[in-house]
Amino acid sequence: MWRVRKIHCSFCGQSEHAVAWLIAGPKVFICEGCVDKCIGILGAKAEWRDQQIARLEQLRASPAG
Ligand SMILES: [Zn+2]
Repeated sequence: MWRVRKIHCSFCGQSEHAVAWLIAGPKVFICEGCVDKCIGILGAKAEWRDQQIARLEQLRASPAG
């Protein structure tokens, strides 16, 4: 018997019917909600990195000792 494979997000488990779209990868899928979360995490990481760079530049600018 032919079975229709149900597609769901590999990260949050929501079915394809519960989300607007799913991106397919090799044996995995990711929904738009999880992509949003990833973008948020990457954005926070970039912000943290920028803070570290700014701190380093402040240290370099101030006279040693
Ligand atoms: Zn998801």
